[in-house]
Amino acid sequence: MNIIAYPIGDSLYLNLTNRCTNACTFCVRTTTDSGMGYDLWIDHEPTVAEMVADIKAKGIENYKELVLCGYGEPTERYDDMLEVVRRIKEYCPVSVRLNTNGHANLIAGSDVTYKMEGLIDIVSISLNAPDARRYNEICQCQYGEEGFYAMLDFAAKAKAYVPEVVLSVVDVMDKADIDACRKIAEEIGVKFRVRELIK
Ligand code: SF4
Repeated sequence: MNIIAYPIGDSLYLNLTNRCTNACTFCVRTTTDSGMGYDLWIDHEPTVAEMVADIKAKGIENYKELVLCGYGEPTERYDDMLEVVRRIKEYCPVSVRLNTNGHANLIAGSDVTYKMEGLIDIVSISLNAPDARRYNEICQCQYGEEGFYAMLDFAAKAKAYVPEVVLSVVDVMDKADIDACRKIAEEIGVKFRVRELIK
């Protein structure tokens, strides 16, 4: 059975798609089929109505936040994702966090960051490396090194529409690289977070 909305701690997560513009070497999609304690492979992508219904059925009003994050890149379904959030925010005033690789504008072919205004409260963007060459080695992006620059541009543009923008790295990086990534976040003017690698 496909898992759509699934709880982790006091957050409810939403699994929108298995598609992604990256193929990160560390990704739970390529290293396991049970990341985060759930098998999030889906045989079809849920409709907006199915996602809204499942989020409500799981009692979203009892969670501290809705997190847009599954086996895949949520912004592969950007407009559907935002429509789900719009309907859920009409239902209850939950905080919404988008975990993303920052490729929404590349996928859409235009700047779509403005669409997040009033819907997304936190956007957490995976930085993963301090430069484009190493980003592409790790993330194996379908856009090549352009994926790195587009991700940084997305972070900079998102600041105008989202209250909290975070660039994040996983804790397996060495200290010099983490420091270099922190500097990038400072230069863009967004928060920086070192997160634990999900195994
Ligand atoms: S961007 Fe996220 S979902 Fe996509 S391959 Fe990398 S870790 Fe996996």
